[in-house]
Amino acid sequence: MVQAWERLRRRHTSKGKTVTRKADKAHMNRVASIGCILCKHLDLGETPAQLHHIREGQGMSQRASNFLVVPLCPEHHQGNSGVHGLGERGFYTRYKLSELDLLAMTLEKLYENIR
Ligand SMILES: [Zn+2]
Ligand SMILES: [Zn+2]
Repeated sequence: MVQAWERLRRRHTSKGKTVTRKADKAHMNRVASIGCILCKHLDLGETPAQLHHIREGQGMSQRASNFLVVPLCPEHHQGNSGVHGLGERGFYTRYKLSELDLLAMTLEKLYENIR
């Protein structure tokens, strides 16, 4: 496992532009397994999540964006009370959270789980 990761990393650094799809996928799976980050924040418990790419469509490279994902349940993702339904400003007004706050909360959970 460690060796495989080392090989991936070396290939990435030597070629510069190589996309480490395996690492992307591993990260995304881990994030999804946290469950909806907003439901947790609102004390609604564990809810199965989809991935929302933050800063969607704002000129972020695919590689960067695969690491800028937050887990959200269908309602908090595409629903009327979600990031897409409310828009970033509406979402902030309602929850006092920006996309970056969601990302920070996600990373915090991720490392909590590892520990
Ligand atoms: Zn939710
Ligand atoms: Zn989304």
